[in-house]
Amino acid sequence: MLADAPDVTLLAHVNPDADALGSAVALGIALQRRGATVRVSFGHPAAVPESLRGLDSTGIVVPVEEVPAVPPLLVALDAGSVDRLGVLGDRVAATAAAGGEVIVLDHHVSNTRFGTLNVVDDKAEATAVIVLRVLDELGALVDEPIARCLYAGLATDTRCFRVATGATYATAARLVEAGVDPDATLRPLLDTHPFGWMGMLATVLGGASLEPDSAQGLGFVHAAVRAADAEGLRGEDVDSVIDILRTTREAEVAAVFKETAPATWTVSLRAIARLDVGAVAESLGGGGHRLASGVTLHCGLKEAVDQVRSALESAPSLR
Ligand code: 5GP
Ligand code: MN
Repeated sequence: MLADAPDVTLLAHVNPDADALGSAVALGIALQRRGATVRVSFGHPAAVPESLRGLDSTGIVVPVEEVPAVPPLLVALDAGSVDRLGVLGDRVAATAAAGGEVIVLDHHVSNTRFGTLNVVDDKAEATAVIVLRVLDELGALVDEPIARCLYAGLATDTRCFRVATGATYATAARLVEAGVDPDATLRPLLDTHPFGWMGMLATVLGGASLEPDSAQGLGFVHAAVRAADAEGLRGEDVDSVIDILRTTREAEVAAVFKETAPATWTVSLRAIARLDVGAVAESLGGGGHRLASGVTLHCGLKEAVDQVRSALESAPSLR
């Protein structure tokens, strides 16, 4: 399908991360080079998050308004279910109803197989790895602009190659050989925040709670980022809080509750190794991976924390 299609629309999930957007842009550039009309988009936010702008080296990303109502060929990347496409989710049914194809490229265990063709490998460290296989099947040249996108997705989804096999490092080596500068690629993604981030961290981490008896006695640490705390900061600044909170030694599970709208808390959940927080998120209406998941709850903060704490009590054990 990808070898012949004259017009391809590629969608990353809402609030795209480096794996979702990098995978879409990498595949998009390759298809554009072989003459297809290609656009990459995502349901939210309106513009590419600042930290990801270095990935779109060719300007292939378009706003939601420029995505056709009925794309002839749709590709969803790194999205475990239709709702992860946000306002662009309606393109899935529209394309299928018109006899078009919907290709799902993803690595989430919880993937619902919402495409007409589903390439889902939950053993893949990142969707970027699946895209690299597709590019090789297409005989596409994997040069720096493409490799940069794939490297960004691979590095971030493996927490900088800590969840990795020898093959992961071999893939990374291939991408670096293609010209990727690892530090220049990762610094805006992982190590760059405005000064206001420091004050936000002080407030948010200062208010964190440790519950040693929760999470089946394995420990639960949580913190809230209220709308006022996040004022003037970027989504990526708020999303990075979980990576600090999760380092709490006394807690198997960490959660950050982010106030994304009034009475709306978007929760990032992380486990170290022993509890399946993907199942916890799914039981609350979200999803993700066993050790990293998320869900959005519509209620007050106390109620949101209570819901997660209580779901953790019945979380599947991983050993
Ligand atoms: P994060 O906390 O970084 O936003 O999300 C962690 C993981 O959970 C990612 O793999 C992401 O795709 C998934 N995830 C986050 N929020 C949701 C959600 O609302 N629904 C589903 N299905 N997955 C989510
Ligand atoms: Mn991913």
